[in-house]
Amino acid sequence: MRSFKTALRGGLLFGLLAAVSACGTTYNVPEASANHTQVAASMFAEEHNPATAKAGGRLSEAAALRQFLQVVSRVEPVAERFCKQETADRPGFDCDINIVVDQNMPVRNAYQTYTESGRPIVAFTLPMIQDARNPDELAFVMGHEMGHHIGQHMHKKQQQAMAGALVVGALAAYSNVGVDQRVLQDTMAVGAGVGNMAYSQTYELESDVIGTAITKAAGYDPVKGARFFARPEEKTNQDGNLSFWGTHPPDQKRLATVLATVDGINAHGGLTKKTSSQ
Ligand SMILES: [Zn+2]
Repeated sequence: MRSFKTALRGGLLFGLLAAVSACGTTYNVPEASANHTQVAASMFAEEHNPATAKAGGRLSEAAALRQFLQVVSRVEPVAERFCKQETADRPGFDCDINIVVDQNMPVRNAYQTYTESGRPIVAFTLPMIQDARNPDELAFVMGHEMGHHIGQHMHKKQQQAMAGALVVGALAAYSNVGVDQRVLQDTMAVGAGVGNMAYSQTYELESDVIGTAITKAAGYDPVKGARFFARPEEKTNQDGNLSFWGTHPPDQKRLATVLATVDGINAHGGLTKKTSSQ
């Protein structure tokens, strides 16, 4: 027989799961056609075969910075205009995204974060800008990271992590009377991780869609740029620091989505938003 406690737990779980799934995305991620998937698969295979992978070489710091600044000067104004236009319905949304070089992180990486006062930052490490094979790769990664800000992914991820922790915490509280506080804290930490992972590919693909629009509008080639993500590189450096390929595991779906997004922009003149955006 279903006890009152189980029913209560079920209801609570249902309510909290509804809160987790409420953190949605704004943009439609176009469905990749069979042709997009096939082209993506052959590009992916090309990058994974040393005989056909696009050649690269580590630039000197000075040459890398020169190339980086040139890309920033073209991408930044386009991205900020795009951001203002796309977030016109979110009063006070900060579109003044500061693009910086993180001189401390010793691994090839790029990320989006906020200053203590909440200003958006997109940071590239020095090894990352030295290792980009062309300006299109830099432009695409830049657009992709800006996509995380415009999509408000960090904010939504934090909300999800809290809701995920509540689900597991509530279950632990109901299933064990007098549960050890330390065990509960552990379970809550696991819950936070689960909440984060559940949305990672959804947010990644939304960032790819936004990044494609920004890269294209700035006059770079998003498909050529997105090949950066397909490179079979180390996920960590020897000290265990995560690289860009550690936080962005290579997959063909990303390339197929970029190809489909380019076709969608050409057909509709821009991105399309979901009818009931969060
Ligand atoms: Zn990303």
